Amino acid sequence: MKFNTKTIHGNQEHDKAYGSVMPPIYQTTTYAQSTPGAHKGYGYSRSANPTRTALENSLASIENGTHGLAFGSGMAAIDAVVKLLKSGDEVIATSDLYGGTYRLFTKIFEDFGIKFHFIEMDNASKLEAYINVQTKLIWIETPTNPMMNIIDIKAVATIAKKHNILLAVDNTFATPYLQQPLDLGADIVMHSATKYLGGHSDVVLGALIVKDKDLAQKLYFIQNASGAVCGPQDSFLVLRGIKTLHVRMQRHCENGKAVAEYLRNHPKIENVYWPGFEDHPNHIIAKEQMKDYGGMVSFVAKGNSYANAIRIVENLKLFTLAESLGGVESLAGHPASMTHASIPKEEREKTGVVDALIRLSVGIEDIDDLIADLEQAIG
Ligand code: PLP
Repeated sequence: MKFNTKTIHGNQEHDKAYGSVMPPIYQTTTYAQSTPGAHKGYGYSRSANPTRTALENSLASIENGTHGLAFGSGMAAIDAVVKLLKSGDEVIATSDLYGGTYRLFTKIFEDFGIKFHFIEMDNASKLEAYINVQTKLIWIETPTNPMMNIIDIKAVATIAKKHNILLAVDNTFATPYLQQPLDLGADIVMHSATKYLGGHSDVVLGALIVKDKDLAQKLYFIQNASGAVCGPQDSFLVLRGIKTLHVRMQRHCENGKAVAEYLRNHPKIENVYWPGFEDHPNHIIAKEQMKDYGGMVSFVAKGNSYANAIRIVENLKLFTLAESLGGVESLAGHPASMTHASIPKEEREKTGVVDALIRLSVGIEDIDDLIADLEQAIG
């Protein structure tokens, strides 16, 4: 089955009771047992719920994995991965990553004795210097949030395998429509399904997908033991979102390209960060591991001024100034004060997240309207 068919049918079956094409929302905590322990596969909804199972099966299908696990948020999914580790273990993560991930690693898990190294991974060989016997996990985002850096998944996976280290890829920005990290050698794919998978800015949910039974069992144990699961209604919404992922992503990519090119040719814009540009530092890798370049574009206006960035985001009318990304509607964000505010200024500026940076999640509206909005906002 090819990808566009998998989004709709992958690992799905019609409801057994009445043949409903979409799975029912099983809004129940518990399930009748005929004698203690005898039930129809479901005992309690933290452990499993049929609507969540339908979503988890779909997630496994679209990422070419064998097991999917759905959580109450992207952060809950990341939290579950780090709980595979123990005190004394070390993690190597990209220095340019979602602020909430940085906060979870440094403000929560460092206190439990896990050590994190945040490094640039534009060249995978930079990893080697940080690997020792304690290194148990490599955590990457590609494209990175918000600088749109590209990391060579295959090259990082080769190094991870050589040292027997788990590789987890946050695939939120790319989605499986653009890249499938498990096929490139990653062990775990993570999603903030709140973004493109849900796609309509109406549900917060996280996901993990793996292709190894033992790893799936360990993560399932953590999912059930820690309990950060999503409810059936939210599972249903993400399952519905996934069914149109491919058509939405196609338009996100078209509009993202048009916006990136418009900004690059604008006399008042200094820098535009988008992996589709031929002179993007890792464009060749992006071209190889991604099908297209996505709908996320970051930029800095000439003068590198905080006040000008704020003026632009306040002037935007069709692009809503808001946290999050990946919905059908276009959003604009100011990473330094919003999504990345939890990263200390010196740290975030090292990776390019300056006070003048604006991040756009380009939606699927008519491109002429989006360009006209940017035109009037930039002035
Ligand atoms: N990873 C990335 C790349 C994100 O952008 C986000 C949220 O913005 C997360 C993880 C966290 O996901 P959630 O907000 O669903 O907890």
